Amino acid sequence: MTDSSFSVAIRGEIDDALLAHLIRADHQEDLCFATWYPSNGHQRKTALLHELILPQSGERHVHGNASFEARYFERAAVEAAKLGAGLALLHSHPGPGWQDMSADDIRAEQEHAAAAKGATGLPLIGLTAGNDRSWSARFWEKTAPSKYERRWCSTVRAVGSQLRVTFNDSLIPPPVASESLRRTISAWGAAKQANLARIRVGIVGAGSVGSIIAEALARTGFEHITLIDFDTVEELNLDRLLHAYPRDARMARAKVQVLGKTIKRSATASGFTVEMIERSIVEEEGFRAALDCDVLFSCVDRPWPRSVLNYIAYTHLIPVIDGGILVTASNTKGLHAADWRAHIAGPGRRCLECGEQYDPGLVSIERDGYFDDPRYIEGLPDDHFIKRNENVFAFSMSTASFEMLQLLMMVLAPLGVADAGAQMYHFVPGLFDRPNFDLCKPRCPFSSLLLSRGDSSGITVTGAHAAAERCRADRSRRQAELPWRAHLIDWLQEKLNALAVHWGEL
Ligand SMILES: [Zn+2]
Ligand SMILES: [Zn+2]
Repeated sequence: MTDSSFSVAIRGEIDDALLAHLIRADHQEDLCFATWYPSNGHQRKTALLHELILPQSGERHVHGNASFEARYFERAAVEAAKLGAGLALLHSHPGPGWQDMSADDIRAEQEHAAAAKGATGLPLIGLTAGNDRSWSARFWEKTAPSKYERRWCSTVRAVGSQLRVTFNDSLIPPPVASESLRRTISAWGAAKQANLARIRVGIVGAGSVGSIIAEALARTGFEHITLIDFDTVEELNLDRLLHAYPRDARMARAKVQVLGKTIKRSATASGFTVEMIERSIVEEEGFRAALDCDVLFSCVDRPWPRSVLNYIAYTHLIPVIDGGILVTASNTKGLHAADWRAHIAGPGRRCLECGEQYDPGLVSIERDGYFDDPRYIEGLPDDHFIKRNENVFAFSMSTASFEMLQLLMMVLAPLGVADAGAQMYHFVPGLFDRPNFDLCKPRCPFSSLLLSRGDSSGITVTGAHAAAERCRADRSRRQAELPWRAHLIDWLQEKLNALAVHWGEL
């Protein structure tokens, strides 16, 4: 990714309404305005389209091309300013795929960039719809007094039951087919693979499930993966943590560093990149890194990070693929239940809070640090979830697989089926089941008020995370206290590994 990249996201119902207006049965071009809110990631600025402002009688003219009266623009700009939103101008072209701009297109957008910025304080966004439902988009950024320059977006994502991303091939070229991906591409074709591989995926939680998902993504040809986790590899992780070895625990390495380094070796995409963020998703830096992604995997079990992910799914229009494992064992009966599930939270689907995938009442308790206070935990009943951490590799493997299948379905939409609903497996007695397709509760803020509000939601979900800070400080201290011999041996082993890989590849 360059220093700063640009993108637009559209939730399913708005995407459908816009395309119903813009793609005409008579094949003529049409236009309209919409409002948008900003979503600022670490490196990416995204405009989240919010509501349509459709033309009223006489406000626009369709004549092969389309044009609009000044009063339509003024009405739209006033409407956007009243909502504290930005303004977007959208029109359609009769061809497929990412669209370039005609001289008339450039003139129309450039001429209104200053007035839009003046009225709303935000840059004018231009979008073009192709006749195959592809989108293309640009920001008109103010670069000097009364000077506005076009910044092409690299992607536009439409987040409905299908996650449909249109890529700007000149900024993110389609992958070059390689022998190592032949079997994968033969399963769904090069065009679908080109869409899939370029989707930027974030994995929140580099533990047992997250590490298997990372491996699966790297093998499947995904080009960009962001790993977000503040934790350190410990010896007690080694029965479940793919790619982690005793030396990683002894060297007190960060989980994201261990995983990031190893999936680079597994990756089949040329130019594979992985971002390793040693932060929690609830910390500002982790949160902003997540906003650079097109889809997120939730591999965390605490209520605060889960609530933040739920918030991101609806407020910032980044679908969250979530899963969970619950093992029930007792001294008398041994293992008597192990259940895991996978589902997606995002516009048009039930949120994690309504689906009771975390308890909102516990979020503030966690934010206040009680779940990391041994005295508080000691007072909790033995079956409290914070004390429950039974898990085995096979259960994680199955959960990771379910979550990967949810992603593939949402992006590839085989036979038009993109939403599999929630899926659940009961290890005892060996039953697969699909809970019904319930939607959010009637007054759920995530699927109404907060939808596509981005940074303008008025809510701050991040904060200082004492346990994450302590964990990083402890890691630095332990690494500094290791004898020099340990560092030397580690360095030598790394060099030998690198050399072995190099020779192996010759
Ligand atoms: Zn045009
Ligand atoms: Zn909800």
